[in-house]
Amino acid sequence: MVDLVRQHAPLRADIDAAIARVLDTGAFIKGPDVGAFAEELAAYVGVRHVVPCGNGTDALQLALMALGVGPGDEVITTGFTFIATVEVVGLLGARPVLVDVNPCTFNIDAEEVRRAITPRTKAIVPVHLFGQPADMDRLLAISEETGVPIVEDNAQGIGARWFGAAGQRGDAPMTGTMGALGTTSFFPSKNLGCAGDGGAVFTNDDALAERVAMCANHGMKQRYHHEVIGINSRLDTVQAALLRVKLPHLDRWNDARRAAADRYDANFAGVASIRTPYRDPRATHVFHQYTLRLADGVDRDGCVAALAAAGVPSGVYYPVPGHRQAAFEQWGLASIHQPQSDILARQVISLPMHPELTALEQDYISDQVLTFVLQN
Ligand SMILES: *Cc1c(COP(=O)(O)O)cnc(C)c1O
Repeated sequence: MVDLVRQHAPLRADIDAAIARVLDTGAFIKGPDVGAFAEELAAYVGVRHVVPCGNGTDALQLALMALGVGPGDEVITTGFTFIATVEVVGLLGARPVLVDVNPCTFNIDAEEVRRAITPRTKAIVPVHLFGQPADMDRLLAISEETGVPIVEDNAQGIGARWFGAAGQRGDAPMTGTMGALGTTSFFPSKNLGCAGDGGAVFTNDDALAERVAMCANHGMKQRYHHEVIGINSRLDTVQAALLRVKLPHLDRWNDARRAAADRYDANFAGVASIRTPYRDPRATHVFHQYTLRLADGVDRDGCVAALAAAGVPSGVYYPVPGHRQAAFEQWGLASIHQPQSDILARQVISLPMHPELTALEQDYISDQVLTFVLQN
């Protein structure tokens, strides 16, 4: 699905030097590269504060902790996402309120969000799924009307821009910077990945940034004086040093992902039983995943197996929507009606997608998909 060895090969000398520099100084925890990376990433995405942390799941948890989410509160989000988005709500003792997604963008449906708001709603968490921004114009309008803050789960969307109604602009805001808080992950396979675990929280709010940093550091601002119950969540210096080498290449890599998506789109054009990814004209898509929808007559799991037999990896993101997860049974979510998430869970298949894919590889992959779909 990704080829990190191929991605790192041309940068290898710089990466080795960056890691050697950390080893030479011995500053493994909160070394100078961590602060420098946070500043460089803040400048890149266009946000006042980047607070690095241990992974993208911690980033979500920290954002909700900074907003004071706890028992008795509700958090509105989507179940058609990686489990972490929903899990952290439950970990904090709050209730996840899952709403259905838009079948074109796969992202949270803003009208459903509006209907789900109650006096107990403490946050709205849209996910920029597969690298396509959620409808931030409508979500921000709802946030403004109701006073409920937005936490953008931008683990899959780093580098994407939301133009909105204003149209295509190079200086349009990046995803993760529009809500009260945004989060991201540097898991190796993400668009900006490190060589292990890493994550970050974004915010333009000075007080929230201070709270996130405090929660990530055992609830203390002053050493050994703990104001709240926090966690221990840090980005390792080695990972920060490596991310500083990779960040300047992110835009180029996202361009390469879009070009690869164009090639897949062309290969599948005109095939009635394959729906290629929708691209919202109000945003840039950074194609964390290239996800097809197969028509209901096509055996999706059979397609996954046929591709595997031909040496082609594929993924199903996500086969079980949040409302059907055993872990969330306590909230009685299984009875809620989420037709779009249920259909997508049955129909989606993601193909290999990374900046290093060659045209030859893509055409082979596409041929295998077409052979299966057209014969079954
Ligand atoms: C990867 C991911 C996360 C979690 O990130 P980790 O670094 O693996 O903890 C959260 N949300 C979404 C949508 C993700 O894709």
